[in-house]
Amino acid sequence: MQIHRIFCIGRNYAEHIAELGNESNEPDASCVVFMKPVSALISLGEQIPLPRNRGAVHHEAELVVRLKSGGRNIPLDRALGCVDAITLGLDLTLRDMQNDLKKKGAPWELAKAFDGAAPLGAWTLHDNQDLQAIEFTCHVNRTLRQHGHTADMIFPIARQIHILSQTWALRLGDVIFTGTPKGVGPLQPGDHIELASPAIGHFEWTCA
Ligand code: MG
Repeated sequence: MQIHRIFCIGRNYAEHIAELGNESNEPDASCVVFMKPVSALISLGEQIPLPRNRGAVHHEAELVVRLKSGGRNIPLDRALGCVDAITLGLDLTLRDMQNDLKKKGAPWELAKAFDGAAPLGAWTLHDNQDLQAIEFTCHVNRTLRQHGHTADMIFPIARQIHILSQTWALRLGDVIFTGTPKGVGPLQPGDHIELASPAIGHFEWTCA
């Protein structure tokens, strides 16, 4: 299935908010939403081309969901019926640049939407598994960096879909990067990065 749009949810795990020094949001406060272009996608078997001379590039390991249907103003109780597949992905972030952009109140595209900023694993069809009971890990050079559990999300996936559908008519091929748990950190050329989840599988890339 062709990917149509890439939505990303920011600041969705309480301990990751603390590590970046952001104030923690109330659960029903506005969700942080941004987008990456489809040109950011990196498939399995490709190397991740890290941007050079732009400061630290951080890995953010995330559960990613793909929609098979959508529409506007999707009620919470219908939202999960729009999901047809799940995988793991990396919301790669030029962290120093993002911090500068935040200070200026400027948009995040330069830090989040560059070519190669969205490596994505292979899809697992979503049947009845509980999307808020998925564990996943991120290893860099075989060392554990992130270990997340979707039960810790501030905005669960149904709520993300509900919120996004207030602004966009969601449709087949839209994907959502659902936020990252604590443990984000820098990548270097030559690093080996592996995302894994018992529910989904494991995916690896080498940084170039
Ligand atoms: Mg992220």
